[in-house]
Amino acid sequence: MATSLSSVNEAPKSSHIFMVSFPGQGHINPLLRLARRLAHSGLFISFCAPESAGAIIRKTNTITDDVPTNCGRGTIRFEFFDDGTGDPYNLEAFMARLELVGREKLPQMIRKQEELGRPVSCVVNNPFIPWVCDVSDSLGIPCAMLWVQSCACFAAYYHYYHNLVPFPTEEAVDIRVEIPCLPVLEHDEFPSFLHPNSPYRVLSKAILGQFGNLSKTFCVLMDTFQELELETIEYMSKICRPIMTVGPLFKELGCASALRADFHVAERCTEWLDSKPGCSVVYVSFGSVVDLKQEQVDEIAHGLLESGVSFLWVLRPPHSLPEGFVDEVGERGRVVRWSPQEEVLAHPATACFLTHCGWNSTVEAMASGVPVVAFPQWGDQVTNAKFMVDVYKVGVRLCRGDAEGRIVTRDEVVRGLKAAISGPQAAEFREIAVKWKKSAEAAVAEGGSSSKNIQDFVDQVVRPRSLLD
Ligand code: UDP
Repeated sequence: MATSLSSVNEAPKSSHIFMVSFPGQGHINPLLRLARRLAHSGLFISFCAPESAGAIIRKTNTITDDVPTNCGRGTIRFEFFDDGTGDPYNLEAFMARLELVGREKLPQMIRKQEELGRPVSCVVNNPFIPWVCDVSDSLGIPCAMLWVQSCACFAAYYHYYHNLVPFPTEEAVDIRVEIPCLPVLEHDEFPSFLHPNSPYRVLSKAILGQFGNLSKTFCVLMDTFQELELETIEYMSKICRPIMTVGPLFKELGCASALRADFHVAERCTEWLDSKPGCSVVYVSFGSVVDLKQEQVDEIAHGLLESGVSFLWVLRPPHSLPEGFVDEVGERGRVVRWSPQEEVLAHPATACFLTHCGWNSTVEAMASGVPVVAFPQWGDQVTNAKFMVDVYKVGVRLCRGDAEGRIVTRDEVVRGLKAAISGPQAAEFREIAVKWKKSAEAAVAEGGSSSKNIQDFVDQVVRPRSLLD
């Protein structure tokens, strides 16, 4: 429900948070969840992203630019800035243009808020756009960063950036990485952007830029929870910046979840899931960015067919299904372009999640008590897969990432699904996953670790600015 500007102007002057998100689904989701959580506590939030995301979000959601909308005791408004019509397929040029335009537009947008009588008391960004911290710094506004990956990955990037431990080089590509607070990581288990052979070096540059700018943040917010990564969080808080765990953010406390920013319209899945017995359906999704080879998609399709299990599969063009697949599968399977993932994972029919292991999907699975079949490709996915299988013990690993350069066969898919659903360890996977779910719920419940941190953060940002300096 829209509220009038006059009531917005009555908000305490020092409680306006200006959030800036990188235009990726995996970045926007956790930042918007944080926005809803903070608004719930009474803050006024401006949620800002480049127009390249705004154009998509407006089409698929009920968002109107610059209309403050009530959310809990607070308010959220959206604002998008024109990032030009650069080639989205040339990532390097896209990132450069985004920075150029953002550095010019953000100060104007933030100053305008001051003119409107609601000065910004804190800026919050997420990774890939480290220059946002320079902008807030130049305006004399405190800045915090929401890290949208695990604390383990944060530790890996931090140690790489500061050259604290040896990482693989072109001369020694296969060495293991030994970071004090983490288990030893094989050469294909730390975030792959840091590998000398990574084809995504532009992304490692963007992420590492954030580590160069950490001194400009007064704290690092993280979409994880203490019980999941306690040792790493404590260690990194000591050597780096104060870390405030605020996750799992998707387990937020019932505030206007209608304020969403999905890039696709989710298809209804609940009725179909309702028709299936408990713990009988495999949910298959590779997130919003991973682009599998068609040959790999075919093997997954045949694996699902041969496994005999029911499945819900998120698959979008240009990928296609093998001929006759839909008829052969019948009611046993459903293929959608985009699912309401949180609902799917929470549904009692969902038995396991065949996932690419993006951090959002990882936390959503674990906090929903759903075992996984890990199918990572690149970036932090390979690290998340390692942790889910070897550390959190909630499932099995089907592959080690696209650097393996191989196709996972249909037989492997069948074996992986059976191991997670009906194999000798299946009951244990579920039992452990349910434990993680309970501890995630406790973290966000009143008095829980993440809930206290949210309150702490709110208390800090509504204080006069001088106390943050
Ligand atoms: N998601 C969804 N429906 C889908 C696929 C993904 O709602 O069909 C959401 C999912 O819940 C998660 C985000 O999109 O919040 C994907 O983020 P993640 O970090 O898992 O992967 P990325 O897309 O960044 O690789």
